[in-house]
Amino acid sequence: MSDGTDTPSELVRAAASAGLDVVAITDHDTTAGWEEAVGALPSGLTLIRGAELSCVSTAGNGRPISVHLLAYLFDPQAPALVEEQRRLRVERRERLQRMAVRMAADGLPIDPDEVMASLPADGAAGRPHLARALVEAGLVSTVSEAFDKYLGSGGSYYLRRADTPVKRAIAMIADAGGVAVLAHPWAYSRGPTVADDVIVELAEAGLSGVEVDHPDHDPGTRERLRKLAAELDLLTTGSSDYHGANKPTPIGAETTDPEVYERLVARANGRTPVRG
Ligand SMILES: [Zn+2]
Repeated sequence: MSDGTDTPSELVRAAASAGLDVVAITDHDTTAGWEEAVGALPSGLTLIRGAELSCVSTAGNGRPISVHLLAYLFDPQAPALVEEQRRLRVERRERLQRMAVRMAADGLPIDPDEVMASLPADGAAGRPHLARALVEAGLVSTVSEAFDKYLGSGGSYYLRRADTPVKRAIAMIADAGGVAVLAHPWAYSRGPTVADDVIVELAEAGLSGVEVDHPDHDPGTRERLRKLAAELDLLTTGSSDYHGANKPTPIGAETTDPEVYERLVARANGRTPVRG
């Protein structure tokens, strides 16, 4: 439902075809795919309902960086989570408006009121909406060109999102009965990553685990992360970060140790695994 190319039904069928016993669905910042995935669950496959939350952390040097937090088996109706989703929706609309107003002020053929009127009333408003307005205005020919020139982090009108501070997200997931795992903490190819002492702080704040076996971690990185996790008594998970046709990694390329999986499930009380 976010940035993969398989539908939730296709995802669970692909997991079963690959011979997996368990698969987690972790769309970015939404649980909208849970119901379809449960409905399509092949017999013998277990589904872990989760999400990958976009958060902000310090890198260890005081600078804010973007981090991803995997949340498993939480109750999506927990009041703090619902309120935070509402805050993010409002904030994302305001951010788009600020970007559009700046463009118009610079003389670009963008009408901020029209852009705002084109946004879904209740759904997620994002930069792709503004990118399509730029395409329609003839300023760029594709959405990706709009991101490169104007809207991406290197673009001239980029504004940072006010994502959830990661420690607050960890607390919210705990309150919702879920388990929080830091996603691909040291995927250096994706940009700045958190230092060891930040992971120590997050462990103190209630983080349950770190994703170690991930396609963006080389063997040396996995070894160092596993050592740090052992010192902090954090669970170490593995996942392929499968995105369908959007990434080359096949489903089931990385897996979580069954014993770690059992410990993770035992910590959760927001939702239970669903067996097909
Ligand atoms: Zn991620």
